[in-house]
Amino acid sequence: MKIPLSSVTLSELERRYVLDALDAGAVSSSALAVGAFERAIAAATGRREAVATNSGTSALELTLQALGCGPGDEVVVPALSFASPALVVQRLGARPVFADVDDTWTLDPTDAARVLSPRTKAIVAVDVFGHPCNYDALAELGVPVVEDAAEAFGAAYRDRPVGAFGVAAIFSLHANKVVSSGEGGCIVLDGPELADRLRQLNAFGMAPERRYWHTDPGCNFRMSGLVAALALAQLERADALIDGRRRVAAAYDAALAGLPLQRRPVADWARESVWLYTLAARDRAAVLESCRAHGVDARAVWPALPENPVFRPLGPRPCPRARALAAQAFWLPTWADMGAEDCAAVVAAVAAACVDEVG
Ligand SMILES: *Cc1c(COP(=O)(O)O)cnc(C)c1O
Repeated sequence: MKIPLSSVTLSELERRYVLDALDAGAVSSSALAVGAFERAIAAATGRREAVATNSGTSALELTLQALGCGPGDEVVVPALSFASPALVVQRLGARPVFADVDDTWTLDPTDAARVLSPRTKAIVAVDVFGHPCNYDALAELGVPVVEDAAEAFGAAYRDRPVGAFGVAAIFSLHANKVVSSGEGGCIVLDGPELADRLRQLNAFGMAPERRYWHTDPGCNFRMSGLVAALALAQLERADALIDGRRRVAAAYDAALAGLPLQRRPVADWARESVWLYTLAARDRAAVLESCRAHGVDARAVWPALPENPVFRPLGPRPCPRARALAAQAFWLPTWADMGAEDCAAVVAAVAAACVDEVG
């Protein structure tokens, strides 16, 4: 492929912070950069606390464990998402319950209400493709919400940044995310008690006042100092990284207008952050084939989650909107410093397929 789906945008700042950490021997999870990263991401999202982790998936698992999710519990997750929320629920021995998405492509509060039961422990609301969920409507359901903002750093719901919603929110710093350290993640939240609980579980479940005395089935999902140095530099450059992706999206918007493609909709109460530029097409296969032939790594989005073999024992759940989008939506290559020439090459590949369809 000549044009990848995504690429990490690094600068001199990342290099300097990582070398500084190396020179100081500050590579462990107790390095200063970890605390500095946590304070910076809490401040960026208007939260009081942050707990850095080694991935977005581990951030979700740790959060749900701290909320007490286990066997006998149910957790509502959207049927259109990367699989992490549903996978971690299952790993904790609880049951993921799929709800459909609405016309914003995010979790439908009405369908979520339909699947609530006395066993529902939490709802994981995914800000999918960089668009916030309808947090006021979800809050009315009266169930703890965990915000999965992995794809949405820089987005806002009614002027409040994503990461600010629910009992806790998580971010991923995976290589294709808006702010990235290759791998990494974070939990942001307000309650000091839940934060202490998260830190204790993430320190092998040791009693805070007694070393090597384990009171809980804990884990080590901690972020290392070198990763935190990289993540802190990315966070300090977040505005440029967010704007860079918005510029790419604006170029795609302008160049693709008029073609039979549906751009990911944006609600009037939302400000999207561009993760991967997402579209839907009736003849997606033709577009993806043309992109492949032109060396462009455009990709179909995930299958609807209930389709996956790992979730089939849960039984069927209709989720018609998620299924329809899973059949039509796809991503175009997107990264912060993607050049105009690469954008133009992608547009040409997409347009070639659409012209074929019309002609
Ligand atoms: C990327 C992603 C995750 C997982 O993050 P990792 O850091 O790769 O573990 C979780 N949820 C969503 C919605 C994601 O897009």
